[in-house]
Amino acid sequence: MPHLASKERLDLLSLTKAGMEEFVHAQGWKPYRAEQILRWIYQRGVTQVEDMTDLSIHDRMHLSLIATINRPTITDVVQSRDGTAKFLIRLHDGASIETVLIPERDRRTVCVSTQVGCSLDCRFCFTAELGLKRNLTAGEIIGQFLCVQEHLKETYDTPPRLTNVVMMGMGEPLANIGPVCDAIRNMIHGRCGLGLSPRRITVSTAGIHHKFKDIVELGVNLAVSLNASTNEQRRTIMPAANQLCSLPDLFAACRSLSLPHRRRLTFEYVLLRGVNDSPQDAIRLAGSIRGIPCMVNVIPFNEIPGSPYSRPNEATILEFQDILIRRNIDTYLRKSKGPDVLGACGQLGASAREA
Ligand code: SAH
Repeated sequence: MPHLASKERLDLLSLTKAGMEEFVHAQGWKPYRAEQILRWIYQRGVTQVEDMTDLSIHDRMHLSLIATINRPTITDVVQSRDGTAKFLIRLHDGASIETVLIPERDRRTVCVSTQVGCSLDCRFCFTAELGLKRNLTAGEIIGQFLCVQEHLKETYDTPPRLTNVVMMGMGEPLANIGPVCDAIRNMIHGRCGLGLSPRRITVSTAGIHHKFKDIVELGVNLAVSLNASTNEQRRTIMPAANQLCSLPDLFAACRSLSLPHRRRLTFEYVLLRGVNDSPQDAIRLAGSIRGIPCMVNVIPFNEIPGSPYSRPNEATILEFQDILIRRNIDTYLRKSKGPDVLGACGQLGASAREA
């Protein structure tokens, strides 16, 4: 049985449908019970086994002795002027992570973390300074979604529904691939999970190329953080990631990836003043990705305390975008969401550091 350490109760939130079926079978229960339990957790949002009222008292008692629903808890909500909210979330061992809710016109996106800290050392990212404390479990990943949803229910009479998930919070998702994939399976399962369309889920990676397939196979979107137009640049600003996969190898991996019909990759490119923001960088980038079904998100650097990097000026940003667009590459400027609460890309981790 997975995740069952001695004397520790099994976390039901970390089980996929297959895992739950195995668990239910091991208890000698009828197979339909697996769906019954999963629906309580994901569709009715119960936080304790005792509330699963269509299980007999005896079965509920048995279940609560050996299993639990290890939902993380929100300890603080910091509201940004632009509507973005940053949630500080405490895990059962006292570790903290951050989750961001980004409301836009017709969507509400939750940006979830996948590690406490991060296993990589990207020089422009605040989370990297924490180092890796530990990986999150599948339950802690999907638990962030459930926490934010619950918060909205408590805050509004007609609570808005969460529509999208991006795995772009703290951590490198592909360095924690098993729990990330299990959490995704529960997010997209219609009957036994959250029922989100896989198209509304995006996993962002600093480029652990041998795991790309695992993500794409689940039907969710893959975003690759390039952030450089030459290998030399990338080695300087993303040393650990670039050691795992050089920039030429990364382009080759992206090119050979077989995507589902009419789907495309997202490339992310953090613009750092004087480092990777010249017109030559844009021209080189366009050349390297030509022919790959993709779009590019240009992310002007979000300031972080004590960083040697800075954000290019507006004209440089627009020119970079323009060069790509003129080369027929769909290019979007990612607006910083929640920079006043350190909730934007690369800014997560302040609370964990203070803790
Ligand atoms: N580890 C994953 C996901 C987390 S970072 C990854 O690297 O993709 C999510 C995005 O934020 C990445 O594209 C990353 O390059 C970007 N980012 C990190 N620090 C940033 C900063 N200070 N300003 C703007 N974007 C940043």
